[in-house]
Amino acid sequence: MAFDCYCAICGVGFSGMRIGTPSDATAERRRQYVDRISRSLNGTTTADLECRDGEEPIHSYDPSLVDQDNIAWTSQVHCLGMQDDTKGKSRAFLSGPGYYADAGELAVKVGQTARRTYFNCYGFGTDEVPGPVMPFHWCCFEVLLRALTGTTDPKNVNLEALYEAMSSLCNWSGSALRVQYGDDVVRAQGQYWQSLPGAEYTVRHPSTTAISETITANLQTNKKLRAPPAEINLGTRQPKNPFSTLPTELVHQICSLLPGESLKSLTQASLFINLITRDDYFWKRVIATDMPWLEAPESEALRKVVDLDSSSRETPLNYQLVYQWLDEVSKPKFGMDDPVLMAVANRRRIWGVCEEVARAYRSHFT
Ligand SMILES: [Zn+2]
Repeated sequence: MAFDCYCAICGVGFSGMRIGTPSDATAERRRQYVDRISRSLNGTTTADLECRDGEEPIHSYDPSLVDQDNIAWTSQVHCLGMQDDTKGKSRAFLSGPGYYADAGELAVKVGQTARRTYFNCYGFGTDEVPGPVMPFHWCCFEVLLRALTGTTDPKNVNLEALYEAMSSLCNWSGSALRVQYGDDVVRAQGQYWQSLPGAEYTVRHPSTTAISETITANLQTNKKLRAPPAEINLGTRQPKNPFSTLPTELVHQICSLLPGESLKSLTQASLFINLITRDDYFWKRVIATDMPWLEAPESEALRKVVDLDSSSRETPLNYQLVYQWLDEVSKPKFGMDDPVLMAVANRRRIWGVCEEVARAYRSHFT
């Protein structure tokens, strides 16, 4: 078994975060390393994820992208476990805060007691708590609660069902769940957490406060998002397409199920799809269904901008362009360097894991 265990929801560690210093001799090597890996990930060279011969590996984050305050959230741990109540019935419990001790062991507060209790993450448990306990950061658990219930109140979730769902994804000898945390996190999940440069976005707090401010600012000032749709002179052409025999509402639904890149390609390849997906209503709905991690369209960001627009002579937002912009800037990517968008990308990455857990959770009720 690995010595470190990782958050069941985001896959990131609870300890061992290292941040370089600006004067550090490794700063230039860190930058070259990030450039080299970015090029290999773009497919221009063979993937070379290891350092070159004779070089010490760089295991520290870029200090211009994260500082100790940014990563403070990673060190506090909570867990979800299951134990028998006084009548011998299995009950799930959420622990209070604690810390990761070592070798897969957590020290957390349970109930009203002041003393800490020790649990084994993902392992075979103890006499008191016979199954695995799932460790996580509280902010990641809030993202999971939102994906499951639309709120962040643990009272709205069936904890026993959630425990069963997470257990079903548990790798008994492992250090995290069997879910898609993303390559940048999987690479860092060694025997101990490795602070790999270029993956700083994975340790940014996934909160939404600054996110909505940045999105509001971009929506207000980015003129490219206000370009009207290109005119299409149909002449006598009548675009025909296999989709054209279906009701528009159904085609809209099919389109809204496609990932961002595929939807963009389809609107470019098919004149018919291009024409019937031109209205803002369609793109607002796609933003709402395809970007739940943004909590749109009710998100504060979009609402604010729409309110401002209605009282100004500004060219209205083109929601197709807004969707494409949001999809692109929020993609979790190696080498990201915008502090706010790094947080958006991390939230989006975590939301993907939450959807996997949510599928297992919902199957419990069917
Ligand atoms: Zn986490």
